[in-house]
Amino acid sequence: MKKSFLTLILLLNSLVAQAHRFNLNMPYNEGIGYGYKNCSPAQEKEIFTAEKGAAIRLNKIIRNWSLASLAEVRHDYVIKEKRVWKNSNPSHMMYLSYWQEMGETFEEMRDKFHEVTFECKTYREKRCQNNEVFAYVLFYFNYAKPVIHICPAFYGKSQESQTGTLLHELSHYSSSTEDLALEWLNGSHVDLRKASKDAYHIENFANEDVSQVLKRMVWNSIWPKARKH
Ligand SMILES: [Zn+2]
Repeated sequence: MKKSFLTLILLLNSLVAQAHRFNLNMPYNEGIGYGYKNCSPAQEKEIFTAEKGAAIRLNKIIRNWSLASLAEVRHDYVIKEKRVWKNSNPSHMMYLSYWQEMGETFEEMRDKFHEVTFECKTYREKRCQNNEVFAYVLFYFNYAKPVIHICPAFYGKSQESQTGTLLHELSHYSSSTEDLALEWLNGSHVDLRKASKDAYHIENFANEDVSQVLKRMVWNSIWPKARKH
């Protein structure tokens, strides 16, 4: 009896200690990860800064996403820049689903960020590919585990590059994105059905404003400039 009581106390203590640890270091904040595994204090500090950067970016993208709706784009881009608008353009339907899916992905990323653990010890050095890879997640049956493995090459990289890396990896976990490496973007032609599933495309939004990325990669090909006569 006494012993089991003691065990209970110890168990409760350790639960409180764990909760305390996560609360103390990382007050629950949408867009900050769950915790760290096998990281040195210096590594934790650097990852934490990168997490905050990614969270700020993510919130900004979500805030600005409504400005990229079909109606807004028509008003602020197509009409203003005298681009060609055809009412029966099949790309409009595709753009609508792209815009909706991307918006959902960014929200899922924000909502599931706190489920992710950062693992600093890379058991499979091969996956870091001689410092060419900054981070990776492992997939099981098309679903990524909630662990972002940080490779040695991640540390010391620019804030922009770290933000891009975290957004890319996070989207694998939260929204099962794939590594399509922008293959849907072919010169002036875009395949929007693939774009919203590409982690490399999510990464594009790390440093530039939503409208800048979309102008360059998407809008430009759907609504070309009117030809001068
Ligand atoms: Zn990837």
